[in-house]
Amino acid sequence: TVRTRIAPSPTGDPHVGTAFVALFNLCFARQHGGQFILRIEDTDQVRSTDESEQDILRALRWLGLEWDEGPDMGGPHGPYRQSERKESYRQYALNLVTKGHAFYCFRTPEELEAIREERKAQGLNPGIKGDLELPEEEVKRRLDAGDPYVIRMKVPENGICEIEDMLRGTIEIDWSQVDSQILLKSDGMPTYHLANVVDDHLMEITHVLRGEEWINSAPKHKLLYDYFGWDMPVLCHLPLLRNPDKSKLSKRKNPTSINFYERMGFLPEAVTNYLGRMGWSMPDEREKFTLDEMIDNFDIQRVSLGGPVFDVEKLRWLNGQWIRDELSDDQFIERMRHWWFNEQALRDLVPHIKGRAEVFSDVAPMASFMFSGMLNLKPEDFSHNKLDEAQVKRVLQFTLWKLEAQRHWAKDNIFADIKTLAKAMELKMGDFMFAIFVAIAGTPNSWSVMDSMAILGPDMTRSRLRHALE
Ligand code: ATP
Ligand code: GLU
Repeated sequence: TVRTRIAPSPTGDPHVGTAFVALFNLCFARQHGGQFILRIEDTDQVRSTDESEQDILRALRWLGLEWDEGPDMGGPHGPYRQSERKESYRQYALNLVTKGHAFYCFRTPEELEAIREERKAQGLNPGIKGDLELPEEEVKRRLDAGDPYVIRMKVPENGICEIEDMLRGTIEIDWSQVDSQILLKSDGMPTYHLANVVDDHLMEITHVLRGEEWINSAPKHKLLYDYFGWDMPVLCHLPLLRNPDKSKLSKRKNPTSINFYERMGFLPEAVTNYLGRMGWSMPDEREKFTLDEMIDNFDIQRVSLGGPVFDVEKLRWLNGQWIRDELSDDQFIERMRHWWFNEQALRDLVPHIKGRAEVFSDVAPMASFMFSGMLNLKPEDFSHNKLDEAQVKRVLQFTLWKLEAQRHWAKDNIFADIKTLAKAMELKMGDFMFAIFVAIAGTPNSWSVMDSMAILGPDMTRSRLRHALE
């Protein structure tokens, strides 16, 4: 039977690209009467968080993309979280060393850099190859001494690696471009490549549909399957989503978090429908369709490779169609109520509203910015007696850049970022914050804007700052 999977790394907000790839894996599996698996690739212990994992699962479910096996529900091939499978990867890596396909490497990053430079100077390929392997006695001596090491796979010096792809046919990649990849890191954790191949095999994955950014990893994976003597799943590299300017969709230009689309009040059916239009179309080219209709008509060969543009304006239009055509008045009320009066959203707001409202009719005006998309701002809203226009722009721009780099979205971290910036720009906190208040809340007279940004989330915050800069 066909088995596909989505294998997100829980290192940030749930990405629309992850949902896109999940959707196509789900459709492919369902269409063949197979199974769709969710596996968490959390081998990067520094960047992975439980919160991100919970968020990804919740977001995929919100979109209606249900899996058959996964960390939350178990299944016959568990555990489905790589951090819980750690010991087995080590055994597989050692097994490759024994077979002569991998070797211990004790070089420091500085030593490797020096080797690369020297090879470049000699006009040689600067890649890291198996010739770094040390004699057996030397390896033994250093292991006994407890020296830190990694395990690297051997790769051919040169020649061509041929990869078969369902959509692209045969892809040729020169082995000279492929480094002797690390399989096991010095902290004992596997790299993506080792864990991914071992798990796809053990979880009996038959088809790997993933983003085209992984094409360059395919030769390493193919080699690993050969070394282990396992059949390789069929590969299919999907096109990457793009910004309207055709660059790779990125949070620096567009909201990429599914949380943002939920907060904006999109219908999950419409978002999933739109993702299904990314590089794919129904046989009759109709724009609006349900997930079930997509599954019934799915054909992977209809995926076109030109980079599909994820255009929020088009998605809005499609969402409007869904609201007008598909929701009865009762359903509209029900959905709207759920969006507006959902327990968590209100709970976040109560501490700020309760002390300020005298009657309930005070609430909507003071909290409307928490339930809005982009605010309707005028240039005069930003006029201030201590900051000129250029300074306001700099405050907004620097804050935007700083917050783009913020990986852990929490009030204290946002506050620390802003404090650093205000200090660097030699502005009083109050003056600096003025521009942020207006961009986020539409007025300087609101409750703590740090709290508002923490609740609104990274994508909504960045979008409002970008909007204020326009
Ligand atoms: P950004 O450029 O916005 O920071 P990123 O590449 O850092 O994005 P990651 O957090 O690395 O985003 O990626 C999260 C997931 O989303 C990965 O599985 C990745 O494959 C997928 N992804 C990222 N960008 C795209 C894209 N343009 N199209 C499809 N999938 C994408
Ligand atoms: N963990 C990888 C990611 O975050 C999985 C890539 C793959 O599907 O092989 O996208």
